[in-house]
Amino acid sequence: MRVGGWSGRIELPASAAYSTPTNGKTHGKIITKFLHTLFENAQHYEHPAVVKNCIIAILTRYNLEKSGIMIEKNTQGEVWVYAEIQEGALQNVSLELTGKARKLADTLGVAVGVVLLGNNVAQVAEKLIAYGADQVYLVEDKVLSDYRTDPYAHVFVELIKKYRPQIVLIGATPQGRDLAPRVASATQSGLTADCTDLEISDVTEKNGTVHPNLLLQVRPAFGGNIVATIVNYDQWPQMATVREGVMPLGEADTRRKGNIVKETVPLTDQSLFVVEVIKRELEKRKLNLGGAKVIVAGGAGVGSKENFAALFELADALGGEVGGSRAAVDNGFIGPEYQIGQTGTTVRPALYIACGISGAIQHRSGMQDSAKIIAVNMDREAPIFSIAHYGIVGDVKQVVPMLLQAFRERG
Ligand code: FAD
Repeated sequence: MRVGGWSGRIELPASAAYSTPTNGKTHGKIITKFLHTLFENAQHYEHPAVVKNCIIAILTRYNLEKSGIMIEKNTQGEVWVYAEIQEGALQNVSLELTGKARKLADTLGVAVGVVLLGNNVAQVAEKLIAYGADQVYLVEDKVLSDYRTDPYAHVFVELIKKYRPQIVLIGATPQGRDLAPRVASATQSGLTADCTDLEISDVTEKNGTVHPNLLLQVRPAFGGNIVATIVNYDQWPQMATVREGVMPLGEADTRRKGNIVKETVPLTDQSLFVVEVIKRELEKRKLNLGGAKVIVAGGAGVGSKENFAALFELADALGGEVGGSRAAVDNGFIGPEYQIGQTGTTVRPALYIACGISGAIQHRSGMQDSAKIIAVNMDREAPIFSIAHYGIVGDVKQVVPMLLQAFRERG
């Protein structure tokens, strides 16, 4: 072997093969680059042990590289969504993302693929097609009955290797937050968590290089003080997670046609099953902020846990739910599951009544798309009034009972 002016022979263990069937070119390049460096440096070393250590370091690095696969950029690749199933039911966030994927794919001129994993889950494929999928990649296996990180990530990565999508979207749910980083790490791609918007655009680097049609992954950063746009132009697929409710749920079109692509991924490697599910206990959702048509939300201005009782009464009368700002949660007026905003739930009800909430950007980002907003605040300069359709300047302790009375009188 002769590299960079140094000739000699080194034995590479079988595991450090020059190429892999999936991505030979890239791995070939990596190892050639490492060996090049080694041989260049080796000329300067007198002691063979130094060279040996150097080889070990290189091979360790190579094996690390090899533990993940890099997907070659595929500008014709599909836009993919992970279909999350809980207790046999398809989660809304997956339908929301399928609708968003449809829009992104139409801009790119490519198809939408949805990855559906589980056991006896095929029945939801038609629904995914109705919401915008062209292809549903279906892998059914008894061992996929319950979500487990390793087997799910393995199957997902195998599908990515085979089809090379350019974008992968996953719900920022507990399951999605567990799966997405595993898949991103295995494919050595980037992952932007909790995106609030996704768009397609050309991106020009400072040096003038233009990257056409990248996924702009928009999310708040630095404690919500800036909105960052993140792009990934070299290590694909471009991956992002999005919380439930952030993307609007589109309309189902039951006339849409799509393909169900049945795939089989061998799941014989026992190391994928070191975690055994003994028992699953799911607590029922007590609160459905995401699906509520009316929300009565309280902030620090409500003043106490006891004062929140009037908000619960009003929400009850209107057939809605109660929500809260982070200050209300931090003050112990209400539990964290009620929090609305950037680090809480994103909501889009027909009516949002904000009581004693100032309207900080982190709160507004979770509720500003509500169809009608009524704000009640003592301070007429409170920022919440800038997005409210109706504003009431007054004390919540007086205004909320008046609203309740008015509603009851009108029936
Ligand atoms: P305040 O800002 O204290 O406002 C209270 C309001 O009540 C004032 O406008 C006051 O005039 C009014 N008021 C007082 N007494 C009365 C009364 N008797 N009657 C009527 N009005 C009255 N916040 C969220 O809400 N959700 C989030 O998800 C969230 N995520 C965050 C993430 C990060 C990284 C950071 C840094 C902050 C986040 N915040 C979030 C906090 C956010 O910045 C604000 O601090 C918070 O929204 C303020 O809550 P508030 O409006 O209830 O309280």
